[in-house]
Amino acid sequence: MNFFDSLIDDVLSQTESSDRASYPYNASLCRKDTGYSQVIMQRDTAYELSGTGMSLVTSADINDEIIVVGDDLDKISDNRKFARISIVQTDDIPDEQNAYKLIRKIEYVKYHYFPDGFMIRTSSSSHKEAVRVAKTSVKEGISFKEIGNLLIKKYKEIDEVRGVKVIFVTVPDADYDSFSQIAQKADSITKTLNHIMNTVNFDCDTCNLKPICDEVEGMRELHFRSKERNM
Ligand code: SF4
Repeated sequence: MNFFDSLIDDVLSQTESSDRASYPYNASLCRKDTGYSQVIMQRDTAYELSGTGMSLVTSADINDEIIVVGDDLDKISDNRKFARISIVQTDDIPDEQNAYKLIRKIEYVKYHYFPDGFMIRTSSSSHKEAVRVAKTSVKEGISFKEIGNLLIKKYKEIDEVRGVKVIFVTVPDADYDSFSQIAQKADSITKTLNHIMNTVNFDCDTCNLKPICDEVEGMRELHFRSKERNM
């Protein structure tokens, strides 16, 4: 699966920075998972992070790794923008239905991890993601390394997942609008896959997804392959 590869290249080039730390995945250093969506009240909140969360799937090789661009959680004291990008390597899935299902499954992992003292608010209809961090967690030294380890562990519960890189960005001068645009494009690619599965319209001139098929390598071929299969 390579539909998101150019977006992954964009993310990697945007997150090249001297203010960057990298940690190998270690399943024994996960943040505690409460198993339910914790509520952190305003009075117990040290600060809020708000911005973009997305997952980008590929079958190219990805090392298990957590990258932090900017301050870590225990160094932040005020509300600020952030981005969380998960780059997930899976087995190559040639069938569009299974590829779509797997992309959705990977996307849904964001609803199934509940780090202690780190309240995540995210929506199924957008790529916006917001986090409240508890004062007590900041005092005890909460880190993105722990959060990333937990998230990677959850992705790895999916059989087809081979490698995961989770990137957290908190540096104030990052181009957060660009992360949002990348997430919107990823969403359009996933919607196009859905369209390919569910439509018998093969007229590219009248199809509103033409801009995506013009841009993303392999998308048009996928649709026409599915046409041949169904004839
Ligand atoms: S191949 Fe053509 S008809 Fe199919 S989704 Fe792309 S633009 Fe639309």
